[in-house]
Amino acid sequence: MHPPMRPAIVDQPGATVAGGGTRAAPGRGRGMAIAGGIGRTVGGGRLAAKFPPSWLGGEIRSRTSAKITVSWPNWGMIGNHPWTAPVPRFFRKTAMKPLTLFLPDYGPLAGKDVYRRHVVVGEQAAAEGIATIANCKSAAIEDLLLLHTVEYVESLQSGLPEELATSGGTWFQGSIDIWLSVLGGLFGAIETALVDGVAGMLGGGGHHAYPEHGGALSPVNDIAIGVHYLRHHGFKRVLVLDLDAHFGNGTAASFPNDPDLFLFDFHGHASDFWHPDTPHCFRNFRGEPDARRYMKTLEKELPSVLDEFQPEVCLYAAGMDVFSGTPNPPLRLRVPDIEKRETIVFEALLCRKIPVAYVHAGGYASLGTLAELHLVTARAAYRALT
Ligand SMILES: [Zn+2]
Repeated sequence: MHPPMRPAIVDQPGATVAGGGTRAAPGRGRGMAIAGGIGRTVGGGRLAAKFPPSWLGGEIRSRTSAKITVSWPNWGMIGNHPWTAPVPRFFRKTAMKPLTLFLPDYGPLAGKDVYRRHVVVGEQAAAEGIATIANCKSAAIEDLLLLHTVEYVESLQSGLPEELATSGGTWFQGSIDIWLSVLGGLFGAIETALVDGVAGMLGGGGHHAYPEHGGALSPVNDIAIGVHYLRHHGFKRVLVLDLDAHFGNGTAASFPNDPDLFLFDFHGHASDFWHPDTPHCFRNFRGEPDARRYMKTLEKELPSVLDEFQPEVCLYAAGMDVFSGTPNPPLRLRVPDIEKRETIVFEALLCRKIPVAYVHAGGYASLGTLAELHLVTARAAYRALT
């Protein structure tokens, strides 16, 4: 167990945050603060974000600094306007706020272990004081159509034709509402990550779903839709970091001939393997007796991909079916390996100031084991955040 890390930066005597200015963007109806003024700009349109240089590291995050000074324009009489006032709150939030995790409404599926694990992770992360749990605002049917065909979406609504409606798993009346909640949770995590640097979604990761149909336990490809969502809001270069133990065939098929989508996919089963003409890094580790080559390869290739591709934002599928205790494990990572993996990922992304929204993706061990494994991700994200 890791004790919660509680930074006490801006509460320290003498800490000051001077001036300030942000713009709150409507973000498809969701409130979203955008830091402005100085620093690096990514994205565009309503999701454009401009990070201050002290977004990570630097004086604002120093645990030993007694005095913290950040200069922002003096907005004078408009200092309390929603577009200008939240900047000091932004800094307080990055220094003090726990990780935000979005919990979908799983409806009648909430009692099943495969979904219950997400709820348990949220409860335990909140109990540890490392995360706050946010409810998901459901996405719209139109959001599904950012990726999926009209025929497939209609089948998810009506249940007909049955073969198409069940191509990604069980269909029942109202099941589409669960997938819309999951998708809305990813949108919320993306928007939060653009402000905080990192946020998570308690579930998701349907990387086997194609535009025209579902795939193994993937009725909706939330990751691919998340890419389209970012593109719709002006972000161009997106990294999909898929470390689920299975190949993300649906995601790969969704972005042929797309030079601004980099799919980084480490897996143990190259099922339905297909190489689109897309920047990609696929590694099949099937048959590896231990995690050494996986770790060495990840440590070597992830930083070089980040430096060469220079993504504006990352969507991370933090699959836990890499665990050696998984039935018929595609990979054989142990808990210390997974802890190291998560640390490598978040540190590599956040030291380069690349916002990351993560999803749980696969996991097939017992409920208690899976909850502990997903908590490893939440703790590593929290450490990177603070
Ligand atoms: Zn998987």
